[in-house]
Amino acid sequence: AEPLDVERIRGEFPILEREVGDGQRLAYLDNAATSQTPDRVIDAMSDYYRGTNANVHRGIHHLSQEASIAYEEAHDRLAEFVGASGGREEMIFTKNTTEGLNLVAYAWGLNELGEGDEVVLTEMEHHSSLVTWQQIAKRTGADVRYIGIDDAGRLDMDHAREVIGPDTEMVSVTHVSNTLGTINPIADLADLAHDHDSYIFADGAQAVPHQSVDVEALDVDFYAFSGHKMCGPTGIGGLYGKKAILEAMEPFMYGGGMVRKVEFEKTTWADLPWKYEAGTPLIAEGIALAEAADYLDEIGLDRIDRHERELADYAVERLNEFDDIEIYGPPAGERAGLVSFNLDGVHAHDLASIMNDHGVAIRPGDHCTQPLHDVLGTAASARASFYLYNTKSEVDTLVEAIDDARQLFA
Ligand code: PMP
Repeated sequence: AEPLDVERIRGEFPILEREVGDGQRLAYLDNAATSQTPDRVIDAMSDYYRGTNANVHRGIHHLSQEASIAYEEAHDRLAEFVGASGGREEMIFTKNTTEGLNLVAYAWGLNELGEGDEVVLTEMEHHSSLVTWQQIAKRTGADVRYIGIDDAGRLDMDHAREVIGPDTEMVSVTHVSNTLGTINPIADLADLAHDHDSYIFADGAQAVPHQSVDVEALDVDFYAFSGHKMCGPTGIGGLYGKKAILEAMEPFMYGGGMVRKVEFEKTTWADLPWKYEAGTPLIAEGIALAEAADYLDEIGLDRIDRHERELADYAVERLNEFDDIEIYGPPAGERAGLVSFNLDGVHAHDLASIMNDHGVAIRPGDHCTQPLHDVLGTAASARASFYLYNTKSEVDTLVEAIDDARQLFA
């Protein structure tokens, strides 16, 4: 496949032209937190409000019909984007990955888990998964167990085979670690989970924007992602679930739009996926998310993936030139498009602040993985995360900024 035409791509993202601070050129390397938005996705949002805006749920008038069709088709589009052949019936729109996790934890976990049951997570889970399952376990009497990692930040699969067993009811694991850049073997974990009649939930927040995902090839039962990390708007995300499971599960939220027949004493539920989308949904956002999926597909996820990995590998190579930098996560070749690191004697927050003076946007802190940082033996790290519009010269700017921080704090 051809390399990306990064100059052309950059031209599609108006924000990348702006200057920050005292006229610095923006180097936006905080894509794992949120990605930037191309013109055509911004246009999809404003076109909706200018030309279609109406409530969905199939009102009779023209605008409502148009909005309903576009919103429903957006579900089909996102289902296709992650390889779900069931279309809209297997794609619930949520607010974000966090809501997808909470939906399953409440709707399935609260009803199905009990004393003696186990939920298996990994040491690299994001708080959105870790805290959610921890709290549901607390309320149901279930136990949470954690699969450990090796020194290179890979999941310890021998440990996984020990921890996943007959009492496991749910394996909930991040597809790509937002701190380490580790890509987890989801299909193998799905086999292990299913061998023990457990469900598997994969958190795709850091995978769906960056690589081609096929939920059926992975054989996951649930899979969640966030629109704002994949060139889409904030406030919209997707939850894939296997149709039979979604049909059997109870709703998460109640209200209008998710019902079939309501009587004073009882209620029956609407068809999938509307059973899980109570109230007026994020209509403009859902439609614009489908535009983001089109955009990424037209460029090609495989090309995007390769571009980002090249940047991450280049960043690791440059950072490895210095003895006073510690890099977390797997070696080049195994790493997704992000790098977390620390500079000896300089707090990640101070480092990020010096970077900011250079116009470089990175993220310092625990990246919502506090227990993982305990395992790494540090409270915080600095994270640079790449996307399709980033360049090697931005990595060079990052390294120059680190030099500056070294001078200032040495
Ligand atoms: N899981 C992972 C691996 C993430 O990186 C993130 C975002 N940092 C989330 C879950 C939560 O995503 P959101 O805040 O969009 O719900």
